[in-house]
Amino acid sequence: MAATELLMGKRKRIVLIAHDNRKLDLLAWARYNEGTLSRHELYATGTTGSILARELGLDITLFRSGPLGGDQQVGAKICEGGMDFVIFFWDPLEPQPHDVDVKALLRIAVVYNIPIACNRSTADFLISSPLMGEEYQRQLVDFDKSVRPVLAGMSAASQGP
Ligand code: PGA
Repeated sequence: MAATELLMGKRKRIVLIAHDNRKLDLLAWARYNEGTLSRHELYATGTTGSILARELGLDITLFRSGPLGGDQQVGAKICEGGMDFVIFFWDPLEPQPHDVDVKALLRIAVVYNIPIACNRSTADFLISSPLMGEEYQRQLVDFDKSVRPVLAGMSAASQGP
């Protein structure tokens, strides 16, 4: 599959999201990593971000609350190339009203090859990576090159012999 590359700068655009039962866990993680986080550009869904800003004094750009569309805003930002990194402590034990939005965000993060941590140990490994402080070429599937031949094949087949 053809691929293009997108440059992630040294200062990463990081979004922090936690479901209600995971918010304290994310707060503890963010407190421990406050120094590192403050060197990056931080975003969060509404409630998560308000808690982190209030408790840690971090400068965070807020999206809507997750159930009110915040996860979709994050997904759109990823599609536009405006986000580098996702810390998403989602709740594996409780159903969520916006489950479809959560799934969509997890999916689009994989499509765009975004580093994503969904639990604390993964977040620990990601944030302590030497790549956090360096530029990184993120490979993206080149949709134009990979989709166009499929479409051309389909229209040739529909015209028949
Ligand atoms: P919240 O949203 O930070 O507004 O609680 C998180 C989510 O449920 O996705």
